[in-house]
Amino acid sequence: MNAEQPSLGGDPHSRQNIVIVGGGAGGLELATHLGHKLGRKHKAKITLIDRKRTHIWKPLLHEVATGTLDTGTESVSYHAHGARHGYQFELGELTNLDTRNKTYTLAPRLDQDGKVLMPSRELPYDTLIMAVGSISNDFGTPGVQEHCYLLDSTRQADRFHTALIDRFTDIHQNRPGDRLRIAIVGAGATGVELSAELHRVTELLRSYGMAGMSRHQLEVTLVEAGPRVLPALPERISTSVTRELINIGVKVSTSTMVSSADENGLLTKDGERIDADLMVWAAGVKAPDFVGKIDGLSLNRGNQIETNEYLQAKDPEGNVIDGLWVIGDCCSFTMEDGTRVPPRAQSAHQMASCVFKNLMNQRVAKPLKGFAYHDHGSLVSLSRYSAVGSLMGNLSSKSMFVEGKLARLFYISLYRMHQIAIHGKFRGALIVVLDWLTRVIKPKMKLH
Ligand SMILES: Cc1cc2nc3c(=O)[nH]c(=O)nc-3n(C[C@H](O)[C@H](O)[C@H](O)COP(=O)(O)OP(=O)(O)OC[C@H]3O[C@@H](n4cnc5c(N)ncnc54)[C@H](O)[C@@H]3O)c2cc1C
Repeated sequence: MNAEQPSLGGDPHSRQNIVIVGGGAGGLELATHLGHKLGRKHKAKITLIDRKRTHIWKPLLHEVATGTLDTGTESVSYHAHGARHGYQFELGELTNLDTRNKTYTLAPRLDQDGKVLMPSRELPYDTLIMAVGSISNDFGTPGVQEHCYLLDSTRQADRFHTALIDRFTDIHQNRPGDRLRIAIVGAGATGVELSAELHRVTELLRSYGMAGMSRHQLEVTLVEAGPRVLPALPERISTSVTRELINIGVKVSTSTMVSSADENGLLTKDGERIDADLMVWAAGVKAPDFVGKIDGLSLNRGNQIETNEYLQAKDPEGNVIDGLWVIGDCCSFTMEDGTRVPPRAQSAHQMASCVFKNLMNQRVAKPLKGFAYHDHGSLVSLSRYSAVGSLMGNLSSKSMFVEGKLARLFYISLYRMHQIAIHGKFRGALIVVLDWLTRVIKPKMKLH
């Protein structure tokens, strides 16, 4: 047996214990596929572990932050989803892995008052897929953790939303005519999409009773260290997005490096101040910090786990770690041209499909399939106003620039495809109808 095709540990048809850690864009799709193929038929035990009870597709977090997305409707309960799709869900936070003895450790589970409900547990696995995503990287910038909001989880997005509504209510009731100043650091997809969505919020607030509220009472500054917004995307998209942002009133400040944050705003490397009432840090990507503390993994500078061409984790000597696979934002996969697969929902989706195929191939001793990333383009939502992006053709590597309503349609279809992947075509279609009805019936914004 070659080192890259490790054994499953005994009889390949025995009931294998497959554990997926992280039920996000990649992990939930993989758990669903494995549940259908193996879990339902009792061919393997499939367990999905997440530190939260519900799944929200992460590219929607900026809408959670502004309150324009109803988390009650859009959340997927892992317990209910697992029961329907053939996997078990376990609530827990991974803190460590012992890759030699094939065990994983979950943190103690606490109740709302911090009392231990379940102590820390060490549990065995045959195959474990790391799909724990990423967090923002503040690069050690002083004051960020204390004074800036992050958008790495639904809880953080909810915290920002509460602060936003509190500030607007205060202005409406006590300081009519005042402005709310929001500074967003990082003009990647998160920063750009949040800036645009915030401008919609003032319009919605006016229609939901805060008469007198107008766009002019919101000042959003988008700060980017690089020379242009969306530095990872083609220049044409960046130019078009900058124009749209300026049109809706966002101040775009490029080539501006933030050196610290305090309670009143940001300080730049050039010694300038950007005063702000609320600050969001949406720059940089790294794997969660606990990944960096796991022994025996090969990691890049952002804690992401290095893999071979089949998405199997490597140790620091470059050997494959038996039974450990990595997908999504926490995976560092180097392509033939030396660049890394970008941390995007489409990457997580493609990696989930590749690992699914490889796990199925391994069971019947078929050769593993190398991962090949296909860039289908990039779309950036500018709230209900528009979307901008590029789409790659299937047959040629040429990209097509799209903007406006057509781009918005493609952008929405990305989420719909994720819904179909985790719910199936029939239920996926029902959910689309339900979403549409919800939008018609319910307020367009969460006001509490
Ligand atoms: C606001 C925003 C907008 C975005 N827009 C786009 C976009 O337009 N297009 C695009 O392609 N990408 C976009 N992205 C990026 C995209 O969301 C990610 O690339 C994608 O979600 C990564 O998928 P994943 O499965 O690796 O991780 P995630 O989807 O982040 O899922 C990780 C899961 O792991 C769980 N987890 C983490 N740590 C632990 C632990 N220790 N124990 C147990 N569970 C754990 C988390 O709770 C989470 O459920 C956006 C991201 C943000 C924040």
